[in-house]
Amino acid sequence: MKIVEIRESAVPLRANIQNSVVNFAEHNVSLVAVVSDVVRDGRPVTGIAFDSIGRFAQSGLLRERFIRRLMAAKPDEYLDAGGDRIDTDRAFRIMMRNEKPGGHGDRAHATAALELALWDLNAKLAGEPAWRTIATAFGVEPRERMPVYAAGGYYYPEDNLGRLQDEMKGYRDLGYAKFKMKIGGAPLAEDMRRIEAALKVVGDAGDLAVDANGRFDLETALDYGRAMADFGLRWYEEPGDPLDYHLMSELAGVYPHRLATGENLFSARDVDNLVLFGGMRKGKDLFQMDPALSYGLGEFARMIESLESRGYSRNEVHPHGGHMIAMHIVVGLGLGGSEAYPGVFAPVGGYASECSVADGGVAPGSSPGFGLEAKADLAPHIAELVGS
Ligand SMILES: [Mg+2]
Repeated sequence: MKIVEIRESAVPLRANIQNSVVNFAEHNVSLVAVVSDVVRDGRPVTGIAFDSIGRFAQSGLLRERFIRRLMAAKPDEYLDAGGDRIDTDRAFRIMMRNEKPGGHGDRAHATAALELALWDLNAKLAGEPAWRTIATAFGVEPRERMPVYAAGGYYYPEDNLGRLQDEMKGYRDLGYAKFKMKIGGAPLAEDMRRIEAALKVVGDAGDLAVDANGRFDLETALDYGRAMADFGLRWYEEPGDPLDYHLMSELAGVYPHRLATGENLFSARDVDNLVLFGGMRKGKDLFQMDPALSYGLGEFARMIESLESRGYSRNEVHPHGGHMIAMHIVVGLGLGGSEAYPGVFAPVGGYASECSVADGGVAPGSSPGFGLEAKADLAPHIAELVGS
């Protein structure tokens, strides 16, 4: 078995929405195809993945460094001992040749897309869904379903409160029982009115989380913490800069309810530092690292190892994502859950129709790999990339 070709294309996200920091209208995603020389039903078995949402396509890095290095390697450098599957750790080390430590930025997303496509390829070669391949590889008892919540609660230029409530009602009608909304894009008093408006629809504050998208300085994060303390919200997400462990630690010292962060940490070393210096409370606060932004599944497993070795539980890991790859990883690694972004971030965001949302959870279908070809809005992009 060998890799015969690796292709990449930058796919635009369909998302004209805004959080407190970012407008997603110009965002795109790297869709990657790793073509093997194994032919089934007249077609080469091909691994497909992408580099998650919110950090742009990494076309240049992939073409100039990571795809080139993997294609230059001999098959016996990246195959497992049996010679019929990719050893994803060996392949990752090939991709990272001549890369210095540290600086975990865009290359973490580029290599993640490629590494995850190798997992998809291995699952397809085994003829099984990726969650099963992942659970077997890491010796984990998989979940049957992934607990899921609807992430949204955006800002609207007109009728802000009414449209926010309509948005939450829409999620409820789709079968979601837990929700998340944005904060930090308006003055504090207005954000409190938005939370109260959303709670009129959601009901229980324990079912509504808020997300500041890293916007606040320490003083503002503490002000919001004090103002929101009596609500008893499900969690308060990414209050400050992702690397501001001092802010997290100070906030965790006074905010009585659950905090969440980590979606913008891209290495196990960053997670070590969050745990050592961020004041994260065991059995309470949530970790949201996204394997499709942070070097792929191998590095993500090292993050979980870092957490568990210090007494944290994988139940408190809820990866950022809202897509098929994150769902297979949550199910395969037995993690706490993840999110969904109903109606936005297509074609990579969302779940295939075979994965319906019910009872607050979503389950993978029976398609091999991550099942991306079964997602109707993504399938044409995959077909175009692989040339069928
Ligand atoms: Mg977030």
